[in-house]
Amino acid sequence: MIFVFATLVGIYLMVHSLIFQAHAEGDNDSEKPRVVILATGGTIAGVGEIGKTAGYAPGSLTAEELISEVPLLERIARIDTVQICNVNSDDITAKIWLELANTINRMAKDPDVTGFVITHGTDTLEETAYFLNLTVKTEKPVVITGSMRPSTSISADGPMNLYQAVCVASAPVARGKGVLAVFSDRIYSARTVAKTSTYHVTAIAAGEMGAIGMVRDGAVFIYEMPAKRHTLQTEFDASSLYALPKVSILYFYVDADVELLRFAAAHSDGLVIAGAGAGEFSQSFKSTIESLVIPVVISSRIDDGVITQDNLLCKNTVAADNLSPQKAAILLKLALTLEDADLVRMFGEY
Ligand code: ASP
Repeated sequence: MIFVFATLVGIYLMVHSLIFQAHAEGDNDSEKPRVVILATGGTIAGVGEIGKTAGYAPGSLTAEELISEVPLLERIARIDTVQICNVNSDDITAKIWLELANTINRMAKDPDVTGFVITHGTDTLEETAYFLNLTVKTEKPVVITGSMRPSTSISADGPMNLYQAVCVASAPVARGKGVLAVFSDRIYSARTVAKTSTYHVTAIAAGEMGAIGMVRDGAVFIYEMPAKRHTLQTEFDASSLYALPKVSILYFYVDADVELLRFAAAHSDGLVIAGAGAGEFSQSFKSTIESLVIPVVISSRIDDGVITQDNLLCKNTVAADNLSPQKAAILLKLALTLEDADLVRMFGEY
């Protein structure tokens, strides 16, 4: 009797596990989400001396080679790849940003596409994330990721970050949240994400603002909505652009040279000042800025805090709110593509 019962339980478990396995391995391939990976290079595609974390060549592996390192991806999504470029992210350009935005906007119209993952170097990941946050026109998840360690190092973080990014790009809960960054188990909003360390694996973070969600074993949890305008809610149109206006960032420090400020102003369409404290600078900077006719946005060289319009030293300038200088420069570039842009309103809304 016990033998018959044990045999029946055994048969049940075997059939159950076969059904489960068939499901997990995706016999029903067309039911899986379809995620497009747009690869741009960076350390995640970096190759160097086996085991080492430094001294490698970023942007070496192709998108196909990246996904072949994470066989588990096949279980969760149908993957398409687009190799946009294969560079160190310090070599990302406005041309690449426009190609990324326009490719996503075109492919997002395909009802079969669920979401997008961009693989990117961490140095300028936050800038590409914010640019796309203001220019992609879709509710579908657009997720950017990278890694701090090259693919050839011990405990490379790229495969896990890529896996988690694909999970987020496949998740219905990630729709309509603006562009997201996924790094080391956490989900960040593009507007607040930043590189915060030169080498830790948790380098991509969001300071005081924090993560908006997390990923664990492929399960995606999101708890916050971005409060500022993004994606479908913006007035920017990348499809008609071939280049972006030139905006320069000037860093203020003790004895900062106003000649550099004048030079930058003469060669730019707009300026961003990384001021000290709450966007402050010397009297000589002040009088030079007051004489300028191009738009000047005031941000801070400090990571945390806000710059407000009513406390600015110069009346002819615009407060960056809590945008970092590099993100303020992106918003100013996009604003300058529009006629008669109301910069004060825009820096309040975006
Ligand atoms: N220099 C690299 C890059 O930004 C750093 C990284 O990806 O972590 O492409």
